[in-house]
Amino acid sequence: MSKTDWIQQEIDGLKSQGLYNNIRTIGSPQGAWLIVDGKKVLNFCSNNYLGLANHPTLTAAAKKATDEMGVGPAAVRSIAGTMTLHVELEKRLAEFKGAEATITFQSGFTANLATVPALVGKEDVIFSDRLNHASIIDGCRLSGAKIVAYEHNDVKSLEEQIKANLSQFRRALIITDGVFSMDGDIAPLPDIYEVAKKYDILLMVDDAHGEGVLGNGGRGIVDHFGLHGKVDVEVGTFSKAFGVVGGVVAGKSVIIEWLRQRGRPFLFSSAMTVPDTAACLAAVDLLEDSTQLVDKLWENAKYFKAEMKNLGFNTGVSETPITPIMLGEAPLAQQFSRELFEAGVFAMSIGFPTVPQGKARIRVMISAAHSKDDLNQGLEAFKTVGKKLGVI
Ligand SMILES: *Cc1c(COP(=O)(O)O)cnc(C)c1O
Repeated sequence: MSKTDWIQQEIDGLKSQGLYNNIRTIGSPQGAWLIVDGKKVLNFCSNNYLGLANHPTLTAAAKKATDEMGVGPAAVRSIAGTMTLHVELEKRLAEFKGAEATITFQSGFTANLATVPALVGKEDVIFSDRLNHASIIDGCRLSGAKIVAYEHNDVKSLEEQIKANLSQFRRALIITDGVFSMDGDIAPLPDIYEVAKKYDILLMVDDAHGEGVLGNGGRGIVDHFGLHGKVDVEVGTFSKAFGVVGGVVAGKSVIIEWLRQRGRPFLFSSAMTVPDTAACLAAVDLLEDSTQLVDKLWENAKYFKAEMKNLGFNTGVSETPITPIMLGEAPLAQQFSRELFEAGVFAMSIGFPTVPQGKARIRVMISAAHSKDDLNQGLEAFKTVGKKLGVI
């Protein structure tokens, strides 16, 4: 017996249940097509909603900034790592989003880890949507606050939980994903805001999949619902529609100022790199100049979803370019994904614990980078594999 035997047994268990994460290697830039394990395939996997991950304007901005400013921030932001680029990006994002202020982080994940523990602690309570993202859950756990889950997107359940719990705690925070990444549905933020207002509770939304996707020209979920100044904290990421990497929190100035003092990943982990920051600034420029990419994304998403429904697939409850193809059991979803790959389409299966048992699926991520031809090729592959496996 070795002390790592249990780990091998766990891994073998994942494999036999069809839950083992097979990680593919990409040998090309991100785009509509990828070289995956040496094979050219249609990309239905990335969060590269607007095709910015390999956009010439962003790469040129990253190169120019690197030539002028180097690559690394060389320190945490509170010591010597805040550069003019970081300050400029935060200012531009606040203008873009119509928020009082913003603060950037290394990722959306660390933005959540920074924000939740800065706002609530052991004497407090968090009301959290049951399907919130792992980084929200981890942020909540780190805070030490009592976590009360309410039913997914169910404002009645939220209010019931508030009534049952609020009086026992010092302060409270309501947290929801903006767009739920596995189903593509949108949080009923105006109704959640009304409840937050009624009970005078801080409201936080993680808009990772809405940033660059929802709202006028991709300004996010707060803009989508016209809730400027009403949602206290809006978390976003630059790793999805923005095509780079990094995180942002937008909201009231006093909260952003507090995060600069108490956000632990801000204080104890280095800032976004120079090329990342410059590329994000270029992304803001592009989005402010034109809504063309965002419009194309939605046009593609609507087309693909409608055609998949016509073919007889169940695309769940998505209201966004995230298109789940509901298949049920994880081994079927994995086999479907393998067959698609053989047919030249890269679309990953997603199973437990990312989604509940029995709700395994293929998740198709539509992008503005896809042409109509690309989408038609993808549809053809889904039709062939769906018939072969008896799904349609
Ligand atoms: C992807 C995602 C994150 C993590 O964003 P990164 O910038 O990649 O760390 C956080 N929250 C939600 C809801 C997400 O979908």
